[in-house]
Amino acid sequence: MTRTLPAAAEIQAALDEAWRIGRDRCGDGRVADYIPELARVDPSLFGIAIHTVDGQCFSAGDADYRFTLQSASKVFSLSAVVADSGETVFEHMSVEPSGDAFFSIVKLEEEKGQPRNPYINAGAILTSSHLPGETADQKIRHFRTFLASASGMDRDAFPVSEAVYRSEADTGHRNRALAEIMRHHKVIPDVEVAVETYFRQCAVTCTAESLARTSLYLANGGKDPLTGKRLITPATNHGVVALMATSGMYDEVGSHAIEVGLPSKSSVSGAVLAVAPGRLTIAGFGPALGPMGNSIGAMKALGALAERLELSVYR
Ligand code: GLU
Repeated sequence: MTRTLPAAAEIQAALDEAWRIGRDRCGDGRVADYIPELARVDPSLFGIAIHTVDGQCFSAGDADYRFTLQSASKVFSLSAVVADSGETVFEHMSVEPSGDAFFSIVKLEEEKGQPRNPYINAGAILTSSHLPGETADQKIRHFRTFLASASGMDRDAFPVSEAVYRSEADTGHRNRALAEIMRHHKVIPDVEVAVETYFRQCAVTCTAESLARTSLYLANGGKDPLTGKRLITPATNHGVVALMATSGMYDEVGSHAIEVGLPSKSSVSGAVLAVAPGRLTIAGFGPALGPMGNSIGAMKALGALAERLELSVYR
């Protein structure tokens, strides 16, 4: 499954160039402020990291700055859930793009509490409710254990930011509304457990370096190429990554496919995780977001990297 990689010096040179291109655009964006704690982050931060399936890692800028996973967590919660209980989470969820904002309530109401896909908030809250365990604490422990086993690190490498968790728990009224609609349609059994788990998983912290490392299984058919540990089956991995391509970048999924050409998952904290199957993962972090809510710097940097290293899956 490993595909040809450029030489290490070329990867680092491409990364440095992409980082400069991305950093120069950060001034055009704004940090998310609908979760008050996120508004406090410095918009000029910008880092990017690459991990290759043969174990090399490269970084530029603020790649060791700690930020919250937010929506990037959805890829890992989906992986953890399907690893534990197969496809049952899809009994009440489809796999189609939504065409609405990630927190939209409209389609969920029209479609009787069945989320469009696992990467919008409704689908992610449903997925969180399927994490093994009875309580939110048990579910989050399982989620962080999954991150630990995917990354070959310890659970302590993925602490929860209590400040961001509290901030979202205090203001996440829409997410509670989504959960209530799903509860009404008997799609989730317990609103409090589902949203508490979801808020906490979004507040789990990582760095661009650890995010790229943790995601390596996604570029390797579901198996961590460095430890040899299988996280999810090849067929499941195919689905998790394909959903990133169709629903991972909010309402910019089309232009991202054209400009970058890599299945990616974005988050309001400014992370963008991209997978080049059989080759490498890239994690960018720049909290200055563009009009569609994606990190301006990370998107530009990914475009530059994909072009120079010929990474697009559509080539
Ligand atoms: N915790 C955020 C929310 O639910 C995650 C959104 C995102 O990163 O897209 O609003």
